[in-house]
Order: sequence, then C-alpha cells, then structure tokens
Amino acid sequence: MKIGFIGLGNMGGPMAANLAKAGHDVTGFDMAEVSIEGVSMAETAAAAATGADVVITMLPNGQILRAVANEIVPAMSQGAALVDCSTVDVDSARAVAEQADAAGLLAVDAPVSGGVGGAAGGTLTFMAGGSTDAFAKAAPLFEIMGQKAVHCGEAGAGQAAKICNNMILGVTMIATCEAFALADKLGLDRQKMFDVVSTSSGYSWTMNAYCPAPGVGPQSPSDNDYQPGFAAELMLKDLRLSQQAAESADADTPMGQMARDLYAQYVENEDGLGMDFSAMLPRFEKRGRS
Ligand code: NAD
Repeated sequence: MKIGFIGLGNMGGPMAANLAKAGHDVTGFDMAEVSIEGVSMAETAAAAATGADVVITMLPNGQILRAVANEIVPAMSQGAALVDCSTVDVDSARAVAEQADAAGLLAVDAPVSGGVGGAAGGTLTFMAGGSTDAFAKAAPLFEIMGQKAVHCGEAGAGQAAKICNNMILGVTMIATCEAFALADKLGLDRQKMFDVVSTSSGYSWTMNAYCPAPGVGPQSPSDNDYQPGFAAELMLKDLRLSQQAAESADADTPMGQMARDLYAQYVENEDGLGMDFSAMLPRFEKRGRS
C-alpha cells in the first residue's frame, strides 16, 4: 500500500519504520526534522497524503489533529482511509471522522496501548472506531504495527475505550499507592503486602504487573528510580480527556475526577513532571493527613 504517515515522534517514528520494513511505500511528514529508516519525507502534510491509500496520523492532541485534517482531507483520494492513532478527545475524533466521510473518505480512530516499546516491537494494541469497511482497510496495517486490534464500534468508540481504560488505570494506581503508604505507616512489610494483595481481592494490574513499590513484584519503573515507563503527565492528559468526555456526556465520574486532580497537583505543583505515574507512591509516603 501507499501510506502517508504524519507525526513521526516517539510512537509514530517506529510505527512508520515497521510499515516500511514490511514492504509498504511510506511517505512521512513531521513538523520537526526527523528521518526514519525506509520512510521518504515530504515537505508538507498534504504532500504526504496525496495519492495515499491510507494516511496515518500520530499527533499530540485533538486540536493539532483537527488542524492537520483540514490540510490533508482535501488532498486525499476518494475511498482512501484516514487512520488516527493519536490519543485525542472523543469530540475531535468524531468531528474528523465526519469531515472525512463528507469528503468520500473512510475514517478510523485507533488509539493504542503498549507505549514506545510496543511501537518499536510491533506489539501495540489498537482500539478502533469507525465503519466495518474502514476497519477492514486499516486491519492489515494494525497487524504489522501491533498484536491485537479490537473494533469497538462507530467513530469515536476507539477513543472512548482508551480513555475509559486509562481512567481505571489512573484510579487503581492511586489506590494501590495510597494503600502501600498506609501499610508502611502501619508497619506492614511491603513484600508481605504484595504477597497478600496480589492474590486477594485487592489485586489489579497496577499491583500485580506494575507494582509501584521498588524491589517488590515483577520488574517495573519503580525499580529504575521511577523513570518512565508511562509518564505522570501522559496519565494526566488521559485523565483530562476522560473528564472532558464525562462532562460532555453528563456522566458522573467522581473517582476519575479525583485522580485527574491528584495527577494535576503532582505534575504541575510538585515534582511529578518526567516521573513515571507509579511515583505516586513516594509522593504519598512523604505525606501525612493534612
Ligand atoms: P511525540 O511528541 O513524541 O510525537 C508527536 C509528533 O507530532 C512530534 O514529532 C511532533 O513534531 C509532531 N507534530 C506536532 N504537530 C504536528 C503537525 N502539525 N504536523 C506534523 N507533525 C506534528 O508524542 P508520542 O509519544 O509519539 O505520542 C503521540 C500520540 O500517541 C499522543 O497522542 C499520545 O498521547 C499517544 N500515546 C503515546 C504513548 C507513549 O507512551 N508515548 C502511548 C500511547 C499513546
């Protein structure tokens, strides 16, 4: 396939490289000077999109996605597919899908989980929203860039799945960290805490697979001085998107709101910027009730 790839950062760069390695003809564009193995670079986003069967975007946020869509949709050929893999707000995902549909294009919102390791290794999980035809056109590319793709429903459903999952992740990470901090103050050994909770009803991915306590459980960013991994500011971005969606859909999400406020406090007013999101544990550890 002829593929346009716009946004070649930490995630987009290795994803585009994997598509080129698999034999596709990939033309890329990024605002920054980048070079990616096997990918020829265009001067503008519109040039990268012209004549492509599929255009993939991997951009920082919904505002930038909307601006890029305004440039590339008019340049794309009828029947081509616009596949956005960025994490953006549900409203932007739906607006871009409508714009593409009105121009005779197929559209898929397909945010990913798996991080930069998954992007490099071609083991991402895609959660996709859009028509069956649009999903079918993108599916062979998801197979190259990832290990799993779930078609979640119509436009916006992929973003909805992503932010609901990450709202659970943010809330459970905070719950796990505050429980460890309480256990410390009660004199409970961290390994014993892990041994009990990881096999009891308090178990979760954050406890069992990504334990925020160093030296306990499987290897995780806590064992590397909380270097990310998944940075606290990226968790904050996703929690903000979940609360923006909750407001727009009139959903009551008090725990998600509290998690957003705690990560905002940690990243913007404390020392959380650049730390892994599990570094909430040393944050709680240092604090008392007031
Ligand atoms: P990044 O900042 O490394 O990459 C974004 C790229 O977009 C940059 O290279 C930037 O120059 C480029 N860009 C910005 N505006 C542009 C424009 N108008 N035209 C062309 N290029 C433009 O970010 P990333 O880590 O690659 O993340 C990309 C998306 O993936 C985000 O939405 C993020 O939330 C999501 N995501 C990231 C991770 C992760 O672990 N990094 C995991 C899952 C999802």
